[in-house]
Amino acid sequence: MSTQKNITVVGAGLVGSLVSIYLAKRGYKVDVYERRPDMRKANIIAGRSINLALSDRGWRGLEGVGIADEIKKIAIPMYGRAIHMKDGSSTYQAYGKENQAIYSVSRGGINMRLMDLAEQQPNVTLHFDERCDKLDRKSNQLSFFNTSTNKAIDVKSDIVLGSDGAFSAVRTQMQFQSDRFDYQQFYIDAGYKELVIPAGANGEHLIEKNCLHIWPRGSFMMIALPNMDGSFTCTLFFQMEGKVSFDAIKTKEEVMAFFKEEFPDAVPLMPTLIEDWMNNPTSSLVTVKCKPWVWDEKIALIGDAAHAIVPFYGQGMNCGFEDCVVLNELMDKHGDLNGACLKEYETLRKPDGDAIADLAIANFVEMRDKTADKTFLLQKKIEAHFSAKYPEKWIPLYSMVTYSPQIRYSEALVNGNKQQSIMDKIMAMPDIEAKWDCAEVENAILKSL
Ligand SMILES: Cc1cc2nc3c(=O)[nH]c(=O)nc-3n(C[C@H](O)[C@H](O)[C@H](O)COP(=O)(O)OP(=O)(O)OC[C@H]3O[C@@H](n4cnc5c(N)ncnc54)[C@H](O)[C@@H]3O)c2cc1C
Repeated sequence: MSTQKNITVVGAGLVGSLVSIYLAKRGYKVDVYERRPDMRKANIIAGRSINLALSDRGWRGLEGVGIADEIKKIAIPMYGRAIHMKDGSSTYQAYGKENQAIYSVSRGGINMRLMDLAEQQPNVTLHFDERCDKLDRKSNQLSFFNTSTNKAIDVKSDIVLGSDGAFSAVRTQMQFQSDRFDYQQFYIDAGYKELVIPAGANGEHLIEKNCLHIWPRGSFMMIALPNMDGSFTCTLFFQMEGKVSFDAIKTKEEVMAFFKEEFPDAVPLMPTLIEDWMNNPTSSLVTVKCKPWVWDEKIALIGDAAHAIVPFYGQGMNCGFEDCVVLNELMDKHGDLNGACLKEYETLRKPDGDAIADLAIANFVEMRDKTADKTFLLQKKIEAHFSAKYPEKWIPLYSMVTYSPQIRYSEALVNGNKQQSIMDKIMAMPDIEAKWDCAEVENAILKSL
């Protein structure tokens, strides 16, 4: 294996930081250029805590470089969904089998930890305030502009990895310097705003800690994930425009009236609701699909730069961490981060990136609408019952995506569609509510498989 290659990673976000650890452990010299100041020094995230759900694919990415235990220290397990109805009642739906959980981690917390761990590698250097503006295809030269010194530098390297997120500069350069670069970007009608349920007087969580909380309301929803300090970060996913939308709620009185009507149980827990609403941005949600991911056998996209997805399966970061795992396995296979390795990475991962993008959009409808729907809940109960009896024949879609890294996203999508067409027939059986756990239903599923 050649250990002499210089690799430039653009973006020290979640994926850029992790992939640099993988590369450093193989002996490559890695320079990571990040547009923002060093968040560990600049206190960028002070005041707002944004969290993410980490699940098995992500854990696998962290285990691959031996840092899962470090991250577990800052992760809170969530074993199921707590569904909050408008009348104040709530129900609980376990995510998987007993003890299966997804984990709430602070975005800033995990990013800073990954940066620390990357910097502990002797052959990784992180450079901050360096905005990538240009990539010269022929010479593999990147141009950065330092936003604190106002100086520009050019950097040449053997391999460039663009891990610079959904609005990747590396990808934009590829797009405008290629003859046939496929690019698709679309926004969903909903955007989001982050709000907070603070900790109780003694730092305790004021609602069940080990759950992902959902307030499903048909065309919109609010969710809440726990933080280590006892607070919850709430995210309202809501139409951007229209009669019932962010656009339509302008005054403090309108915000309060909307929350009292839709989330009456949450209002007493949100003393800073109005302040948070007014101060926190309303952000939009984009999906990006593109091709190729790899250029001239030496420039590649990874993470959101290659596949930005909406957050409703909680898989964007997990998918990016899985990119690192696959790339690492291919470096084993090819003995180096060479053109053949990068090409195979694209061939393997592109269908999976597309699949999780589509699954994530479909899960928005499930979370905001169907988690409160009786027919949907009965379907999930039948699936769980059948799966418990025949685990080798039926893994529910959520479990395939979240807990089964051995199943590719693209396979999960195909299997999930097949399962749905079977369940459509089962749910149409007369009197299904009464006989859902009878042999007749079980045999009908077995016959359809
Ligand atoms: C509301 C919301 C909730 C989410 N929830 C989850 C979840 O629960 N679970 C999950 O797995 N995923 C979730 N995601 C997705 C997750 O945040 C992303 O998939 C993940 O951050 C991707 O990591 P990345 O490193 O590819 O990109 P990023 O984290 O965006 O990092 C990109 C980095 O590149 C830097 N950069 C950008 N441009 C340049 C440039 N020109 N030059 C140099 N540096 C540059 C940026 O400053 C940044 O540090 C969520 C996303 C959103 C929006």
